[in-house]
Amino acid sequence: MKAVAVLPGSHEVKVIEQEVPRLCEPDQVTMRMLDIGICGTDKEICSFEYGTPPPGDDHLVIGHESLAEIVQVGPAVEHFQPGDLVVPSVRRPCPHPGCLSCRSEHQDYCYTGDFSERGIKEAHGYMAEYAVDHERYMNLVPADLREIAVLAEPLTIAEKALAQIFWMMQNRPPWLDPQTPRQESGRGLSALVLGIGPVGLLGAMTLATAGFTTYVYSRELPPNPRIDLVAGIGATYVSSQSAAFGDLAAQIGNIDLVYEAVGHSHFALQALQVLGTNGIFVLTGVPGLQAFIEADPARLMRDMVLKNQVLLGTVNAGPEDFAASLRDLDSFRQRWPAVVSTLIAGRYPAEQAAELILGRPTGIKSVITFELAGPRRSGGRHRPGPAGGRRR
Ligand code: BGC
Repeated sequence: MKAVAVLPGSHEVKVIEQEVPRLCEPDQVTMRMLDIGICGTDKEICSFEYGTPPPGDDHLVIGHESLAEIVQVGPAVEHFQPGDLVVPSVRRPCPHPGCLSCRSEHQDYCYTGDFSERGIKEAHGYMAEYAVDHERYMNLVPADLREIAVLAEPLTIAEKALAQIFWMMQNRPPWLDPQTPRQESGRGLSALVLGIGPVGLLGAMTLATAGFTTYVYSRELPPNPRIDLVAGIGATYVSSQSAAFGDLAAQIGNIDLVYEAVGHSHFALQALQVLGTNGIFVLTGVPGLQAFIEADPARLMRDMVLKNQVLLGTVNAGPEDFAASLRDLDSFRQRWPAVVSTLIAGRYPAEQAAELILGRPTGIKSVITFELAGPRRSGGRHRPGPAGGRRR
């Protein structure tokens, strides 16, 4: 079968031929990969700045945002059957008995750092025709989300952040009633999203759905389809080329939440200075090597203390975040059908993966699919099963 791999030793990104993976344990499933999204993390991996092959391998099969169809199940698989659509999670637990998080299936909070991540760290990813994994890492996808479910994984970043924010907001100002419906939890509050990449846009959609008055701030100037998307969800776009952070804060009033999705340290630091009283600042971007900058840590500390501010970093996601993500994708589709139809920029064959990953991003999310490839040498064609299915 074909797979897209990065070879750090020879600095190559290419399509390779591999054996079709086999079921090795009774609770595993074989997935036929349908869609594999590409993102900034893939760009860093393919630029040899991030990512690690599995121990003993000279290559890493990339791809961690995905949608698959189950084509084979082991004898002990209880919740899935061939034909089910699934989004597999990314992170796998570390082996240490003392890691409270990994031992309780919360490897997104791993203490030791010895976790692996499919397509990123010490485990091959999903940009391949087939992949095998344990059923516990599968998230069942309703068949009617087929076209957009590849967005579920990048959306989990916002879902995990939002889950933590809600929990905090119930216990500190504005003291949300625990019974508050999710769609009303941001009512009366303002959120500022930094960045209009896929994580920023999906974050803005999540926050707008939760009722926040949502602003998106980034460098780009119109015309730009990403800026159109912001308007399409009823949020306000402001370009950093036309308004400085101070002007933005004056326009918004108390900034209750900042959702950072750029991975740019200087930009984040400037935004921290306009965070409002009792505000929560969420960092989701992982910065690469960046120039040192001048900062005034005393001012930041003073503000954070005197304004009861929270700084929250968040990475990866757990099963409940995948479930929330699939639910939200469904509500986005119903609420903003025209916007949702623009989210997938295009589907491309594996041979174009390297140029798409390393080139300038076009549209919102580019997707690799093996469906465009020639006749299949292995596996055979399997049609997706009936709509819906069982939820775990
Ligand atoms: C992925 C996460 C992963 C993180 C750090 C992100 O692009 O979506 O699943 O944990 O990178 O490697």
